[in-house]
Amino acid sequence: MTMADQSRDPQAASIDKEWLRNKYREERDKRLRPDGNDQYIEIKGQLTHYLDDPYTPVTPRAPKTDHVTFAFVGGGFAGLATAARLKEAGIDDVRIIEKAGDFGGTWYWNRYPGAQCDTASMVYMPLLEETGHMPSEKYAHAPEILAHCQRIGRQFGLYDNALLHTEVAGIDWDQAASRWRIRTNRGDDFTAQFVGMGTGPLHVPKLPGIPGIESFEGHSFHTSRWDYDYTGGDPLGQPMHKLADKRVGIIGTGATSVQCVPHLAQACKELYVFQRTPSSVDVRDNAPIDPDWFSGIATTGWQQRWLENFTANQAGGTAEIDLVQDGWTDLGRRIRAKIIELPREQRTPQNMLAAFEDADFGKMEEIRARVDTIVHDRDTAAKLKAWYRQLCKRPCFHDSYLQAFNRPGAHLVDTDGKGVEKITDNGVVVAGKEYQLDCIIYASGFEVGTAYERRAGFDLTGRGGLKLSDYWAEGMRSKHGIHVHGFPNAFFVQPAQGANLISNVPHNLTDAARTIALTVSHARKNGFGEVEVTKEAEDRWIELLLTGAGRMLGSPDCTPGYYNNEGREPGPQARLNVGYPAGPNAYFKYIDEWRDSGRFDGLAFR
Ligand code: NDP
Repeated sequence: MTMADQSRDPQAASIDKEWLRNKYREERDKRLRPDGNDQYIEIKGQLTHYLDDPYTPVTPRAPKTDHVTFAFVGGGFAGLATAARLKEAGIDDVRIIEKAGDFGGTWYWNRYPGAQCDTASMVYMPLLEETGHMPSEKYAHAPEILAHCQRIGRQFGLYDNALLHTEVAGIDWDQAASRWRIRTNRGDDFTAQFVGMGTGPLHVPKLPGIPGIESFEGHSFHTSRWDYDYTGGDPLGQPMHKLADKRVGIIGTGATSVQCVPHLAQACKELYVFQRTPSSVDVRDNAPIDPDWFSGIATTGWQQRWLENFTANQAGGTAEIDLVQDGWTDLGRRIRAKIIELPREQRTPQNMLAAFEDADFGKMEEIRARVDTIVHDRDTAAKLKAWYRQLCKRPCFHDSYLQAFNRPGAHLVDTDGKGVEKITDNGVVVAGKEYQLDCIIYASGFEVGTAYERRAGFDLTGRGGLKLSDYWAEGMRSKHGIHVHGFPNAFFVQPAQGANLISNVPHNLTDAARTIALTVSHARKNGFGEVEVTKEAEDRWIELLLTGAGRMLGSPDCTPGYYNNEGREPGPQARLNVGYPAGPNAYFKYIDEWRDSGRFDGLAFR
């Protein structure tokens, strides 16, 4: 017998921890499946149309065969921040190579209705102080973030040299010339003294491997390639009037679906939301930013102060005030409050973990109780409750997602953890019942955990023909997550093996941009042609990382998802997907000191 949700009072004053632990386990077990990540299918062959760019036509251009000082792969936040810092450092010929038709990275592709930043704009949007942009809302919507990326591109003169709608085919180190050779799918074949990799963790859309997926005869698309021609409306929020007579199904209920379902529910004749695992949906509480308030706080160095404060509050620091005050910092505040209740001598690791669990139970009980206060139909409300710890899956925040299920045309089709059974030429089948549809929208996420070179689209080839895929076969190796031995003059911009701050990924990226600009400037000022982390320094860094508590996300106790390799043993490589053992806050302090010292410890300049 399953543990009926109704068998307990969710508002009960005391939390029945054992009941919850069992319920979490039971719900996880329903979802564990032997194929793990392989349940998703790579978009190729007859499916490649799912990857077409619906937003910008490709313009013909002549191939490049020149030389630049710095080439950066990826025009998202990583590339923009790094290129901006390099420009500030006086390096004029920085070239960004980007597969999309403009800068923006994830914000270029994700234009689905309701797309919005889930981390407060004041800390999420890079280079606010440098550009003088005041975010319009506490949580900015996607069009504003895309426009901000374009603003950075214009302000720092990054468009002139950029190669848009261009995918890298290969980057090889030419030892004789001490430079990188870069080839692309547009026939470019040029060289660069330095290269940067900001290829992004979640940018290759994936489709669920549901039997019959190719047979559907209606319309279909992935959320990251929204087809406004079909739906009507636009990313700015114009209603999707063309859906008024349509039966639409959306597969997936992750962070993307949570944001677009309210808009679909309003627009479609009938909307079917196919759910395998409910997301936890906490309060959003968005609000416009008041220009008077902003001009009061936006004094020199303000964004750095906010970044440090957010990290300290969210990632176990000791900040006395919480400038951002949101759902990310709330759990941190609760854990600290529980720990402070403990006498000092009882603050053992075990008691700390217990405090974390208690805080989490409290938080999730509130989130579940919120469903009951919003959703009218009891059965639908019960199915929308998330039974796992908050950080097992990406936490969501929204103030009209749950409300959408009160609309007569919006139907939750819960699959009790099993997922959609099959797709026919007419629609979607769950538990033997066919739902006839005009359109299927895949809110099925992006590849995570597939090989780096598969997601990047090329295999970086370093000194002596060393392939990055071989060098990282047993897991990523680097110093600071930026420098990799055997790959001189190459810089990686991503969170792992550095701060690994998950709640505000841009903080990791913009910080790495500083390190890179400083390192390149140092090489150039001193006439060095090459810089590379020594093997010894890289080994020491890896040893240090392995002294930590391990992966922050992805406990095997969690319900499956991309945070925990879909519930499968993640393999030995995953133990290296970690951050600085003392946490993000400590990492940012450490790296500041590393930079300020001017010694570039661990790097060899030649
Ligand atoms: P996710 O990978 O989070 O979600 C995919 C969804 O598809 C899940 O609900 C999954 O269910 C479901 N699914 C997969 N296969 C099936 C199936 N066979 N039948 C039914 N359902 C299925 O993708 P998202 O695009 O939602 O989000 C990806 C990430 O992008 C987020 O985690 C976040 O990091 C980022 N993001 C950030 C936003 C922001 O900051 N504002 C907004 C949107 C996304 P199950 O859970 O059971 O696996």
